[in-house]
Amino acid sequence: MSKNLEKEIEALKKENRLLDSKIIELYTLYNMSKKLSLAMKLEEIFSGTMEVISGSLDIDDFCIMLLDKKTQSLHISACYGDIDLSGTSFSVGEGVTGMVVKTGERRLISDVSQCEDFLFYKGKKKNIGSFLCVPLKGRDGEVLGAFNVHKHEAHSFTGVDVDFFAEVADHIAAAVYKALSLRRMEELSNRDPLTGLFNRRYFFDHFEKEVERLKRYNHHSSLILLDVDYFKNFNDVNGHLLGDEALKAVAKVLINNTRDADVIARFGGEEFIVILPETEKEKAMAAAEKIRQAIEDEKVAGEENQPGGKLTATIGVSSMPDDAIFASEIVDCADKALYLGKTKGRNIVVAYTEK
Ligand code: GH3
Ligand code: MG
Ligand code: MG
Repeated sequence: MSKNLEKEIEALKKENRLLDSKIIELYTLYNMSKKLSLAMKLEEIFSGTMEVISGSLDIDDFCIMLLDKKTQSLHISACYGDIDLSGTSFSVGEGVTGMVVKTGERRLISDVSQCEDFLFYKGKKKNIGSFLCVPLKGRDGEVLGAFNVHKHEAHSFTGVDVDFFAEVADHIAAAVYKALSLRRMEELSNRDPLTGLFNRRYFFDHFEKEVERLKRYNHHSSLILLDVDYFKNFNDVNGHLLGDEALKAVAKVLINNTRDADVIARFGGEEFIVILPETEKEKAMAAAEKIRQAIEDEKVAGEENQPGGKLTATIGVSSMPDDAIFASEIVDCADKALYLGKTKGRNIVVAYTEK
């Protein structure tokens, strides 16, 4: 075979390999878009990404880190390959990933041993030769996290690779953006806009499930139903705006005087309800008394015009299984106790009893 022919065959083989890898890349992007367009939850996005990428591409491992906006830190959300990076986190600006998220600019490090700010996931993963970090950007350009691709050997990424992984990151980002927006909308639909507490609809959904769960384990649970006293007077004298502020103050007192496991909701206008899971009536009565006292002690603008010069609330308490075993009945019991409290003169805690 002539030298020229050999050369030509070699060139053709090379072109073939390039074409093969291009087809795989296109096929991967097609599969990603198919899979991720259906994903509504973050977990589905991560598992879909793993499935598509791991099955078709020449990479050693990769991970997705998402930004927690509140703490401004990045957390591992998914990883693929011989790595367990769960629990690893970076602050925005920390290490390469932290900087990519801060600047919104992707970064390719061809040889990580030459990179001073490379943190090797805080020592958890050593065998990285080359590294590509692409920011995940939402539709509005906001950075949501980062997509990190690792290869064991240095200088393993080609320019084509980088463009391709940037496209993969765009697919992931679009899906993450959609899932986060959906989650935010769900969150909002469960909340009362004035106080930020859960709303009545969420309360019933949650409480019904909770009651069924506790029933199975034969556990106790209690309800605190609270109604602000003479609130019509408060509004009439102080105006609706100050009335709103007073309701926000009551919500804050409730948040500050309950445990993390308790679920607090705005039940109606000036009525609030608290679920105390795994709590017997006696303990719930003590919790309710603490809340009643805290509302009485709270300085609220406009309360000087209330009867007694203070903003107060009346509270009814009921428990399962002692008083009832169905959610709506347990609420009714708390309501009856609350009504009794009103007739007794208000600013008082009353437990439901059958009499
Ligand atoms: P009681 O001690 O018997 O509970 O008397 P009350 O005046 O609190 O009871 P009533 O049910 O007569 O009045 C409730 C008031 O709560 C009337 C309503 O205008 C007010 N209210 C309900 N929702 C809101 C709200 O979102 N903002 C404000 N400012 N007021 C509200
Ligand atoms: Mg009321
Ligand atoms: Mg009232």
